[in-house]
Amino acid sequence: MDDDEHFETRAIHAGQEPDEETGALMTPIYANSTYEQSAPGEHTGYEYSRTGNPTRSDLEDNLAALEGGEHGRAFSSGMGSINTVMNLLDAGDHVVTGDDVYGGTHRLFTQVYEKYDVEFDFVDTTDHDAVADAMQENTELLWVETPTNPLMRVNDIDALSDIAHDNDALCAVDNTFATPYLQRPLEHGADIVSHSLTKYLGGHSDVVGGALVTDDAELDEEFGFYQNSVGATPGPFDAFLVLRGTKTLPVRMDRHCENANELAHWLEAHEHVEHVYYPGLESHRQHDLAAEQMDDFGGMLSFELDASLEEASEFVSSTEVFTLAESLGGVESLIEQPAAMTHAAIPKEEREAAGLTDPLIRASVGIENVDDLKADLDQAITAALE
Ligand SMILES: *Cc1c(COP(=O)(O)O)cnc(C)c1O
Repeated sequence: MDDDEHFETRAIHAGQEPDEETGALMTPIYANSTYEQSAPGEHTGYEYSRTGNPTRSDLEDNLAALEGGEHGRAFSSGMGSINTVMNLLDAGDHVVTGDDVYGGTHRLFTQVYEKYDVEFDFVDTTDHDAVADAMQENTELLWVETPTNPLMRVNDIDALSDIAHDNDALCAVDNTFATPYLQRPLEHGADIVSHSLTKYLGGHSDVVGGALVTDDAELDEEFGFYQNSVGATPGPFDAFLVLRGTKTLPVRMDRHCENANELAHWLEAHEHVEHVYYPGLESHRQHDLAAEQMDDFGGMLSFELDASLEEASEFVSSTEVFTLAESLGGVESLIEQPAAMTHAAIPKEEREAAGLTDPLIRASVGIENVDDLKADLDQAITAALE
């Protein structure tokens, strides 16, 4: 693969040579567990499909090329990839991460790894002094998301990587919300990029997967060891679906961004909307940083309705084009109420202190016609509030 080629070209061709024997353009689904050896230990590079599978290898090469990285590894879910980074740690190690980190990540850290005596500090990662203060002698990892969920905070990857490296720690960035089309953390100093392929990279809400990308061969070797030892690997059908998804990532993301940007401005002017959280708005606290670090502002936004918890629940139940559902990043628009759904497990006081108010709504803006999306939100607001 030619590194000079543009993102759109890499999305379609990286890791995707036509099959030498048949000329088939698309990577076959190698539904296969084991591989013939010509003599014991002599093989083509594939022995057993947990360790390696050709469909998965093509996906891993494709994802590495999209992040501008050297090495890619695919997993059976985003949590599988995050767990693999955690496998690098020993008992007694310390991790610094965001206080608004993805709920599943928070659960993995506190309910699985604390059991193994890994220590965590959850801080506001937009506050660089707080991050630097949290770093300890035994801090091995700084885990960062940007933009964050659901308030779309933007974290400065260059600055946070520097803080991690000053303390001999690794900086890992969960790039699920932005995708490599909009933001490439390795270019900003991060050591590891993590993805939930379930979201924009798969892009069609039909597959669950995860990935890690790094430039560091030793780290990649360790990831391969844990990938094989733990076994959270994707099957070839899943790898095929994600490969099909990444080909259209650039055109999908352009429309996601365009629609989200238009909806964010429209919502900001709406009489029943108190506040809109979208990095593309001038009113966003880190709009300038987002403009620098990202090529566009993404398809996720949140907004606070002038409503009670019940009215906001009525609103999300009244949309017809937006589907009431968790998850994000598919071609269809989804809507949810964090206080009653994704973040309901957080005690109300803590939730409110973090800005996750009852009438906060999160939307994954799809690629439908934007006028239909506006009309749908408008009729649902009328149904719930008037
Ligand atoms: C969904 C998500 C994950 C977890 O990925 P799964 O594929 O659901 O395991 C991790 N981080 C972020 C930011 C996510 O949105």
